[in-house]
Amino acid sequence: MRTFWTNLRTSHPGVTTIVTGNDLNGTILMVGGSHLLEDRRRDDRVEDLQGGYVTAGFWDSHFHLTEYGRSFGRLRFSEGDTREVVLGRVEQHARTKPPGEWIIGAGWNHAALQADPDKERLDRAGLGHPVLLMSLDYHTAWINQEAQRRLGVTVGPEGILRETAAFHAQEEAMRLDATDPAEHVARGMREAARLGLVGVTTMEDVGGLAALQSIPSGAVRIRTQVFLRDGHAEWLLASGLKAGFGSDFLRVMGVKLFMDGALGSHTAWMKQPYADQSDTVGMSVLPKERLLGILERLTEQQAVAAVHAIGDRAIHEALLAFKRWPAQLGSMKSRLEHAQLLDDEDLALSAQGPAALSLQPCHLLFDRPIADQSWGPRGRHAFRIKDILGARIDTVFGSDAPIADPNPLWGLWAAVHRGRPGDTPWYPEQRISVREAIQAYTESPARIDGRPSGRLEPGCWGDLTVWSEDLEEALIHKTPEDIRVVATIVGGRRLV
Ligand SMILES: [Zn+2]
Repeated sequence: MRTFWTNLRTSHPGVTTIVTGNDLNGTILMVGGSHLLEDRRRDDRVEDLQGGYVTAGFWDSHFHLTEYGRSFGRLRFSEGDTREVVLGRVEQHARTKPPGEWIIGAGWNHAALQADPDKERLDRAGLGHPVLLMSLDYHTAWINQEAQRRLGVTVGPEGILRETAAFHAQEEAMRLDATDPAEHVARGMREAARLGLVGVTTMEDVGGLAALQSIPSGAVRIRTQVFLRDGHAEWLLASGLKAGFGSDFLRVMGVKLFMDGALGSHTAWMKQPYADQSDTVGMSVLPKERLLGILERLTEQQAVAAVHAIGDRAIHEALLAFKRWPAQLGSMKSRLEHAQLLDDEDLALSAQGPAALSLQPCHLLFDRPIADQSWGPRGRHAFRIKDILGARIDTVFGSDAPIADPNPLWGLWAAVHRGRPGDTPWYPEQRISVREAIQAYTESPARIDGRPSGRLEPGCWGDLTVWSEDLEEALIHKTPEDIRVVATIVGGRRLV
């Protein structure tokens, strides 16, 4: 049995029909006009896509699937919330929770609070519950006294933990919170499919990996590709796994490492001090010897690395390390995650190096004012996507969900317009075309991941995203809110 997907549009006017097979990946068999229907046999299926606009399935290359699923049950703040608003929402939430249960929230923004975080104020708002609130970039945690007591950590009167300490506190709070990660993974997959995503590259711990394995084959299941977070690197290295181990629906790629912190927390590691905090250049969170040691072992093992680097110094050090130890397997490449501030020296270094760049254009929508303030004129090198594509560096897009909304339409929009609808574009010379932006969600990730997908061609997996509008038109003349996902098709099977 084959499936004839008909009554569709693509970027090629002659293509109105796509035929997928009945194998596990629903491999694309034929692509062409409506005449393909003449080849139909009795047991073939016909699916009318009602004039929808079909692209290769969208893939988000930087995701936290368990976290994303979990975020639906959590307090979610807006980037403009003041301290009073944050505390008010914590108190409201606390009233609805059984006594003693954790209150976990995310998304507060220090720049908008108009006051400093305060441990005691958070205690009063928490009504006896332990409270942990992750910042917008997740690199800072604000906790209250009850959380401090349960976590066994020490914090000052502000109740603030940064970087590794913040991540540990968050992991520990989730462990004590004791909800089932499989539920969160399932929820995350359903929500991602609704946004048109056929797959994600997700950063997980071993618990998240186990949860991914537990998804039954009959359930709504997008494809996943896993990088294990730093704390679990030894497990992966000891296992000897090569990149791509697993199935076409769940593959293990390698290890995720952190070189530095984040821009909003002034912990991104810089070559020169911050414009608005001249006494700091941010911080390195990974000793160089450890980075080189892990990359060397990954290179020998033929697994790959995803290295978080935001500041120019962190990017530079990571690129030098990749030059020595490329950590790749065939076309499966290591990648530098975020690469937010790439100066000319490192643009050239990256163009010669083995690693791909994994970018999150949607972050520029909220990082723009922070970059202007903290990086000053260096901001012209932030998210310099046009230059990166011009240097022919492999480039893939993602969202870092739940840190940002994973709706890929916003990622496309940000890369094409460099601002929200109605804004003047930020460094407009770095705008790219819609077609280039779509490639960074489809063809390019498939290439650096070594997957036969990302194109509407016979032989590729039958992973398709169907939109209500012609994206190349709509992303110029309309806004993301005017575009709907009509269908998400994974392995020739319709999930949405
Ligand atoms: Zn991330």
